[in-house]
Amino acid sequence: MPELPEVEATRRLLARWTGQRVVGIDVVEPTTVRRPGATSPGAFDAVGLERLRRAEGGVWAAPVRHGKRIAARIGGTGLWIHLGMTGRFVPGGAGRFTRLRLSFSGGDTVGFEDARRFGHVAVTEAAVDRDLGPDALATDDVTLSGLWRGRRPIHAALLDQRASAGVGNLHAAEALHRAGLAPARIADSLSAVERLDLARAVHAQLQGAIDAIDPAGILWVADGEGDLDLLVYDREGEPCRRCGAALERVVLGGRSACFCPHCQR
Ligand SMILES: [Zn+2]
Repeated sequence: MPELPEVEATRRLLARWTGQRVVGIDVVEPTTVRRPGATSPGAFDAVGLERLRRAEGGVWAAPVRHGKRIAARIGGTGLWIHLGMTGRFVPGGAGRFTRLRLSFSGGDTVGFEDARRFGHVAVTEAAVDRDLGPDALATDDVTLSGLWRGRRPIHAALLDQRASAGVGNLHAAEALHRAGLAPARIADSLSAVERLDLARAVHAQLQGAIDAIDPAGILWVADGEGDLDLLVYDREGEPCRRCGAALERVVLGGRSACFCPHCQR
């Protein structure tokens, strides 16, 4: 499932065509165009589809990422791109699961591929997504450290996209390990120093993952974590790379988190 680093890599890929005209918009699968915030294919937006088709000939503006969403613009038409579970953009755009294809005046074509179809494009003029908190990567350490609050496990607070946008299950587990914090710790019980350590760990984790992604080719393996060297995520029962203790798994708010009972308190 694409997390913030994969979405950021996607944004960088889409930024290659900034300033070019979109000379072709081929909506292979019309239900890819949905109302803002809707994930179900049943939320098809016929008006949005018409507006997207009419945007042909417009200039592709520099895309912007907010959490795991990308805001793009073709001329006067605004788009939000959601990758969902398996969505990705692939240069060439002639794959079996291609849902949408954009052709640029420089001669390139890029396709939006999505096997599971949770990904979609929303046509909207709204510049800000009010369902999302500040972007985790773009927010400084001190500000970020103050966003995870409540009588809830810190792991759940990290995943709350209204608190801070962009941290998913994998990077939350890894950042908590880096910061030496148990995922079940109550968010409000963290000291200011622990919060700051966690904010730094989140930034280091996300930035490290972005740096690890191949910027040139297919951006990540759809059902894997690429070449990321994972410390705890999905490693229940395996030895902690730091102390050797067996990693444990806990389920918090319906999401599972692996952690080291020795290194994380
Ligand atoms: Zn350990």
